[in-house]
Amino acid sequence: MRYSHVYVEKGARAYPLTDAILSKLQGSVVIDIDHYKDVFDRPRQDIVFQKENPCLILAVRTGARIYKGAPVCQSFGQRYFYYASSVMNCPFDCAYCYLKGMYPSSYIVVFVNFDDYASEVRSHLAEGPMYVCASYDTDLIALDHLTGLAGRWCDIAEENEDLLVELRTKAAPQDLRAVPNVIYAFTVSPEEVAGRYESGAPRPSDRIRAAARALDAGCRVRLCFDPMIKIPNWQECYERFVEEVAGSIDLTRITDVSVGTFRISGEYLNSMRRRSPGNEIAWYPYTVKGGVAQYTEEDDRNMQEHMCSLLGRYIGREKIFTWN
Ligand code: SF4
Repeated sequence: MRYSHVYVEKGARAYPLTDAILSKLQGSVVIDIDHYKDVFDRPRQDIVFQKENPCLILAVRTGARIYKGAPVCQSFGQRYFYYASSVMNCPFDCAYCYLKGMYPSSYIVVFVNFDDYASEVRSHLAEGPMYVCASYDTDLIALDHLTGLAGRWCDIAEENEDLLVELRTKAAPQDLRAVPNVIYAFTVSPEEVAGRYESGAPRPSDRIRAAARALDAGCRVRLCFDPMIKIPNWQECYERFVEEVAGSIDLTRITDVSVGTFRISGEYLNSMRRRSPGNEIAWYPYTVKGGVAQYTEEDDRNMQEHMCSLLGRYIGREKIFTWN
């Protein structure tokens, strides 16, 4: 991806990661700024235009860096569930992405002070084991060629056996490092969904091949059929897709599977509708329950049950996690 401009927070200049990233973006215009929020938090930004004309912001994260997991996220039975935000925003442009409603800008912010994240993880680990979703508000693997941050999360996982890291991605990497306490979570969708709603992301067949390569390299692999989207003929589409996945990956070797239907906080949905009025996913008449916009209870149940029964042909029910 080409970034026309790179905004560099003045405090970020002293960090080696800033130099490393800038050295890879020699064609970009570099602009010094006082604070990343001066650019990122400006009012009335056009997030659709920004997605088409991406810029990067390099900044230092102060305050909390690791958070307790949110209820709409799956914990996979892990008691100590956290997520970390070392990058905000993503190079891909999924129509259903909650980041469209969460952030005022589509520009990607990379926090260059990763050592502070590692220290915070170590402090939490002093209190007990930790499960950290490190790639929630971004796609660290898709950005790894630029930031190296997915690799840094693998490093701290290697150093701390009580730490379990999930790196979720829609990328299709050639090589992944096998670390016993790192789970590579590949989000996969039928072509009918990906082609229409996952702009910029690799084709599902490429992601499936990447997941198969990761398994062959000895990595722990999770497959995420999440979010399922209620497209016309969703039953047949998802059935065909599960057969395609099962034909390419030995599903008995994967760590587990996540299944979930589209859901988003009602607040983010309203903001998404305001900011990207042409987004058909945003305008579906969802039901709002407990502040979360989702399909009706019946649709939600039917879709998740259908997917669980399709996957149940290949893997044990104990390895299939649903979001509610
Ligand atoms: S890959 Fe994930 S984070 Fe990136 S745009 Fe799509 S849904 Fe959002």
